[in-house]
Amino acid sequence: MDRFDVVIVGAGIAGASLAARLAGRCSVLLLETEDQPGYHTSGRSAAFWQASYGGAAILPLTLASRAPLAAGWPLAEEETGWLRRRGALHLVGAGDETAELVAVLRLADPDWHEVDRARLEAVAPGIAPRFERALAEPSTTDIDTGGLLAACLATVRRRAGRIETRAQLRSARRDGEGWRVETASGSLAAGTIVNAAGAWGDAVARCCGVAPVGLSPRRRTVVQLRLARTALRDLPLLIHEGAEGFYVKGEADNRVWVSPLDETADEPCDAAAHEEDVAIAIDRFERALGWPIEAVERKWAGLRTFSGPGWPAPMVGPDPAHPGFAWAVGLGGWGFQTAPALSAIAAAALLREPLPPLPANGRPADYLFRRS
Ligand SMILES: Cc1cc2nc3c(=O)[nH]c(=O)nc-3n(C[C@H](O)[C@H](O)[C@H](O)COP(=O)(O)OP(=O)(O)OC[C@H]3O[C@@H](n4cnc5c(N)ncnc54)[C@H](O)[C@@H]3O)c2cc1C
Repeated sequence: MDRFDVVIVGAGIAGASLAARLAGRCSVLLLETEDQPGYHTSGRSAAFWQASYGGAAILPLTLASRAPLAAGWPLAEEETGWLRRRGALHLVGAGDETAELVAVLRLADPDWHEVDRARLEAVAPGIAPRFERALAEPSTTDIDTGGLLAACLATVRRRAGRIETRAQLRSARRDGEGWRVETASGSLAAGTIVNAAGAWGDAVARCCGVAPVGLSPRRRTVVQLRLARTALRDLPLLIHEGAEGFYVKGEADNRVWVSPLDETADEPCDAAAHEEDVAIAIDRFERALGWPIEAVERKWAGLRTFSGPGWPAPMVGPDPAHPGFAWAVGLGGWGFQTAPALSAIAAAALLREPLPPLPANGRPADYLFRRS
């Protein structure tokens, strides 16, 4: 029977980025239920890096991840990196409360600034009059999420780690100092199990006889529209939070992605877009911009999974109540933009090394696993 120091359950960005950090330091196996890594939430992201996104609790992880993402982490030889400049405009209507956003922008982007209605019109002609102004966040970029995930997996293999797909973890029980693990592709022994199963995090814990933590998977929808309009590729991300929220991201010369910022509680599943959420996305887009739609080309949804109501941030590292069991869960809507920093904290916690420092007064210990 094969034995691994660390078995990571789930080959989304949480599991893959941690495996890339650990491979070469100890023997690592990355297990994935599906045919391919990244099939669930990590394959459904809107793929942007935005420092203010997630507020003050996420900011230190996002800022710390910027340079590694720009440098193509974890590939040392990458020249261009995973980021591509886009910029963002937070749309502000009459009566919208912006104090909290401004406070985060001050920490997030030294170049943030106010944009008046005339300049907003120049960027987004025809935008509804109710948007009186915007707050610009120029540092917002796109992330090549496919490239980043593939690079993590390639790094695992290059450093003699193993990746097995169609290998669902079915159960695990303590066996001496470690675990005896049963998977869809056979039995193995593990020193430590890391639960990086996204929406299935609580289910995986139960399979291992570990108490669940009350993870909260929430469905988010994205629609791809083809428009009778061009030059949209480099459109700044247009985002309106609060009532009737949405974002619009230019995806190609005449295509945009639109999300209604839905956060509907859901069960762990192969999430699909619901027709009512697609209709809401289209309605909000038409009322905000009114740009003629030629076709609804694609629609999809993914589960953004949160640690729970009391803690709006990811949790990584050993579970003090269960020897040999660790977590990398609750990546919410920020799993890619925080991956380098979060995986570094998780790896240090597992290897019992000092936690790496964080910018913006971030405390790495705040992201260690906890039960509320
Ligand atoms: C619409 C949308 C837009 C988003 N936009 C952004 C964005 O712009 N920027 C950003 O940074 N983030 C964004 N996110 C969030 C980001 O995609 C997530 O934070 C991230 O993908 C979560 O990764 P994960 O590895 O935790 O989960 P997943 O990718 O879901 O991976 C978990 C894996 O565990 C596997 N698994 C489950 N149970 C088992 C088992 N028993 N055995 C083996 N394997 C198992 C699953 O099959 C799955 O592949 C977005 C998410 C959505 C849905």
